Amino acid sequence: MNTTATPTQTIETGEWTTIGRIECQRTARPITLTTGTRKRVLFEGRNGVIYDGCDRCENGTRWEYMGIHGGICYYCHGTAVRLAFKDGIEQAKKRERTNWKADRRREQKVAEQAAAAAAELVTWKAANPELARELDAIVEATQNDPSAVDGHLYELAYKSQRQPLTAKQAAYAQRLIDEEKAHAAYAATCRYAGVIGDRVTVTGKVVVTSFNEGGYGPYGPRSASMFLVVEGTGADEGVVVTVSSSAKAAFDAQRGDVMTITGAVKKHDTRDDVPQTKLGGRCTFVTVSKVETEPAK
Ligand SMILES: [Zn+2]
Repeated sequence: MNTTATPTQTIETGEWTTIGRIECQRTARPITLTTGTRKRVLFEGRNGVIYDGCDRCENGTRWEYMGIHGGICYYCHGTAVRLAFKDGIEQAKKRERTNWKADRRREQKVAEQAAAAAAELVTWKAANPELARELDAIVEATQNDPSAVDGHLYELAYKSQRQPLTAKQAAYAQRLIDEEKAHAAYAATCRYAGVIGDRVTVTGKVVVTSFNEGGYGPYGPRSASMFLVVEGTGADEGVVVTVSSSAKAAFDAQRGDVMTITGAVKKHDTRDDVPQTKLGGRCTFVTVSKVETEPAK
């Protein structure tokens, strides 16, 4: 389906000159052959032969290889040109017309592929309107802050702007969106255990245990301690407390245990949008129930 018309061709001829290294000089003149939108600079020799300029050297010399045969260019043998069309300018013109047509065909193919891809994307969005809307909203929301959303979800959202997601990717994106929504809903129900300075009692499940072996800190030796994160249960649902303690009960704590902790509110923290209350002072721990074995994470 090559219907491209032959483009107009013009030739601009320069002055005769000598080119190449002193020991390999020849007489040639530059020719600028314009074919439609293609421009090609060539050299014409005295015998009508057409050359390309050598693109590896400077007039036959490669200055960075001066130590090897005086830097003569091995690509053009110091002549600064390479044979392109031995049959002359008509051969060059014919080749450039072919090249121009190939360019047009390539452009047309690219345009067709882009149109097909765009149509595919429209079809996909029409088939997945909810997900497409959610992903568009993520792109909109993360313009200035990519970290505002999970990295995988961010990538999928941007991919969905260019091409359809595969069924697997769509399902994964949907799952991530659902998880984020569930987390946001959970975070919205969370609250601090009390105002700073209050002494509070919270009952909940241990979700993180982290042993700190102590050692020498900037203010001298520190004793070993246990860091716990406890998610409130029952009446304390929505309260998350963190505490570092050297109490034996804290060392004995395991993930999954239910404990009642009493301590002073030291700080209001936030982690992943969830309010966390840091307890300090002299904390007391009462283990309500222990898990049989620590659950696998
Ligand atoms: Zn060269």
